[in-house]
Amino acid sequence: MSDHLMNTYMRQPVTFTKGEGVWLWDTAGEKYLDALAGVAVNGLGHAHPKLVAAISEQAAKLIHVSNIYHIAEQDALADKLCAISGMDKVFFCNSGCEANEASIKLARLYGHNKGIGNPEIIVMDKSFHGRTMATLSATGNRKVQAGFEPLVSGFIRVPYDDVDAVKQVASSNPNVVAILVEPVQGEGGINIPKDSSAYLETLRQICDAHGWLLMVDEVQTGIGRTGTWFAYQHTAIVPDVMSLAKGLGSGVPIGACLAKGKAAEVFVYGKHGSTFGGNPLACAASLATLAAIEDEGLCAHAEKMGDLIRLGFQSAFADTPAVKVVRNAGLMIGIELDRPCGELVKMALEAKLLINVTADKVVRLLPPLVIKQDEAHELVKRLSEVIKAYLKQ
Ligand SMILES: *Cc1c(COP(=O)(O)O)cnc(C)c1O
Repeated sequence: MSDHLMNTYMRQPVTFTKGEGVWLWDTAGEKYLDALAGVAVNGLGHAHPKLVAAISEQAAKLIHVSNIYHIAEQDALADKLCAISGMDKVFFCNSGCEANEASIKLARLYGHNKGIGNPEIIVMDKSFHGRTMATLSATGNRKVQAGFEPLVSGFIRVPYDDVDAVKQVASSNPNVVAILVEPVQGEGGINIPKDSSAYLETLRQICDAHGWLLMVDEVQTGIGRTGTWFAYQHTAIVPDVMSLAKGLGSGVPIGACLAKGKAAEVFVYGKHGSTFGGNPLACAASLATLAAIEDEGLCAHAEKMGDLIRLGFQSAFADTPAVKVVRNAGLMIGIELDRPCGELVKMALEAKLLINVTADKVVRLLPPLVIKQDEAHELVKRLSEVIKAYLKQ
């Protein structure tokens, strides 16, 4: 291990050398079940043959040019993303925080264009939007912000899943230009609105009534994760702006900010840019990812496997009151305990299983979309044993 890395991560004592599907192997040749997928990135699992071929072929032709020129792979990816989302235009970048930076800049510019000189954006408690200055300021978690003050101004925070709080802001604040919301909160603890369709649909109505933009952060929920291409597709709404990253490139860094209608016309020449964003390699990886998800029916599969895993845990923990609730939106699965449980990550690792704990008490699972039924059963078996052993201590 190198002493030359900044201490930004508490790393687990393991190094992986190769993977296949939901499986990973470490330097000692030990095999692990990956129920985290690089935090919702490796939707196709590891070393998917079609992804490997697409990346290899593209690398041999052209990795990068510049957005100063037309990029055929970027044109094709923009067309594909708009076709599956109903959005009109795309800006490509390299990560989730950059996609949200683009959304925030777009909303502010939209406000200025309407004559609002001090535009504000409504954001949620327990949200996570990234680690850049604007996105950590939008994030509803003090731990992410502490030490980085002064924060970027122009965000108004309300509780998640509380439309009355949004209506209250609407009645008293003429500077609001947009709402930024995760359809399901990932880092915040797999928080699913009580009635997810009604929540987004009511936010849509409020935005329409006030001329605000509805901006969904689908960095974690997007690209098949919840059982549809995008989580808002479980509802009747289409957003004005959507940010994507994580699963979009299967590990080759790429992010995207999509916009529709009036929002799609806000960015004009010179207003935003990115050196790497949407380069030929990243776009080829993303096109191959989307094609594989479509060809293999992975959206519907994710929904089926997610429900199967939730039911498996619900029955495993039926007589375990310390497990308060198991909830899921497709393959975003949360197991909420009645106590902090960060130690479970290490215990699971010893049981050759990769998981994550977020919001102190919530075990978060984000397995590859390609997880098979027997692998889903194996995940439930390994993890319920680990959690039960932990609770006995
Ligand atoms: C991970 C995440 C981000 C940040 O993405 P990065 O690629 O790490 O910048 C933003 N929003 C949500 C909802 C996320 O889950």
